[in-house]
Amino acid sequence: MRIGTTAEKGAQHLDFTDTPEQAAFRKEVRDFLQSELPERFRSAPGERMMGGDMRSRFEEMKEWRQKLADKGWIAAAWPKEYGGAGLGTMEQFIMNEEFAENRAPQVGGMGVSMIGPTLIIHGNDEQKEEHLSRILSGEVQWCQGFSEPESGSDLASLQTKAVRDGDDYVINGQKIWTSGAQFAHWMFMMARTDPDAPKHKGISYFMLDMKSPGVTVRPIGTMAGNAMFNEVFFEDVRVPAKNLVGEENRGWYIGTTTLDFERSSIGSAVGQRLQVESLIKFAKERQGDHKSRLGEMETIRYDLADRLLETQVARMLSYRVVTMQSKGLVPNYEASMCKLFSSEMSQRIAGTSMKVAGLYGQLLGDGEWAPQKGRYGGSYLQTVASTIAGGTSEVQRGIIATRGLGLPKN
Ligand SMILES: Cc1cc2nc3c(=O)[nH]c(=O)nc-3n(C[C@H](O)[C@H](O)[C@H](O)COP(=O)(O)OP(=O)(O)OC[C@H]3O[C@@H](n4cnc5c(N)ncnc54)[C@H](O)[C@@H]3O)c2cc1C
Repeated sequence: MRIGTTAEKGAQHLDFTDTPEQAAFRKEVRDFLQSELPERFRSAPGERMMGGDMRSRFEEMKEWRQKLADKGWIAAAWPKEYGGAGLGTMEQFIMNEEFAENRAPQVGGMGVSMIGPTLIIHGNDEQKEEHLSRILSGEVQWCQGFSEPESGSDLASLQTKAVRDGDDYVINGQKIWTSGAQFAHWMFMMARTDPDAPKHKGISYFMLDMKSPGVTVRPIGTMAGNAMFNEVFFEDVRVPAKNLVGEENRGWYIGTTTLDFERSSIGSAVGQRLQVESLIKFAKERQGDHKSRLGEMETIRYDLADRLLETQVARMLSYRVVTMQSKGLVPNYEASMCKLFSSEMSQRIAGTSMKVAGLYGQLLGDGEWAPQKGRYGGSYLQTVASTIAGGTSEVQRGIIATRGLGLPKN
């Protein structure tokens, strides 16, 4: 993918073809997935695996994890010295596209995508030694303890406290919306160590063993029928000072590194395109048995066409972000555009699926009358959260308005 402009006869063109090296790498990934990925591990278009499912498939997936580990592809972006493949931004993007195209599960979760890269930058040797290899082997699962009941968008206002006591910090307070905390072995989290300092300057960053006495995890049920996130309470939880990452009271700046990694893991638009293509196939083929309403409602055609076009827009937006990253630039409002468009699009795709399936779309589970094993209804309920998780749509629009369009803050 030579994304960039080439001047030709005074005109500017975008060249989307792979360079020979990129094409060779794409082929390597594709061939590997086609020959090595067991069919039973391929996900259906639009299928989302939640923490519980991931956990129950953990043992089953061992064989797949080992194959990826042998290639250094569990954490392909990590430097080779830490067990990664040291891939560049564009290669990672190609890899993500091919994984999505082949509906292949990636493994590693927040350990690989968030705390691992944060430790590589900010952790000391002992912390890297203790944690990085265990993240790569998949034996340790992590969760992210950032949000609190009164601190989400305004994260720096967090109130969970950590007080130094001898060789430990003693933590008291509460986190909320902690995805996968009920399955996690460790949490990376931020807590206030200096209540008198300005809010960004009194925060420290810790790694906390979820088995520590005083940690209580309470799952929160969602309307989609699962409990993917939790409340986590800390009552006099002792965290050894060796688990402080970076310096005391400098944790906010480490937390923003973690958030950058969270936001920069641009999901390729390929998965959403496959989802729309599968919906179009369903709409065409399941006519006459009351499961597709294509014949009854003319506007469904327009909706399906719009959704397919939107997946191309999402692709272009993600190309913009990945091009910036590959040039060493840090995407800002561009990443917000990507997140905003793709999360709202996931809701529109779910809405169109329900329109196509009609009342049957409300059926969940894999009963005879539930289309696509209940995925349409499940996705309709599940995607409501996508415009909240990882920064709300309102916050993204604020960033685009002020940093992108240069509008005044208020
Ligand atoms: C599925 C899911 C998984 C999550 N997983 C995790 C996790 O693993 N770990 C974790 O720490 N957190 C997690 N979160 C929490 C998530 O990061 C927060 O929900 C999110 O940042 C919003 O914060 P809040 O819920 O406190 O809402 P608030 O910040 O209280 O926002 C309430 C409303 O006010 C609006 N608003 C707030 N500020 C502004 C502003 N400046 N301009 C305009 N409007 C504004 C918001 O858009 C929203 O509509 C998860 C959330 C979801 C939905």
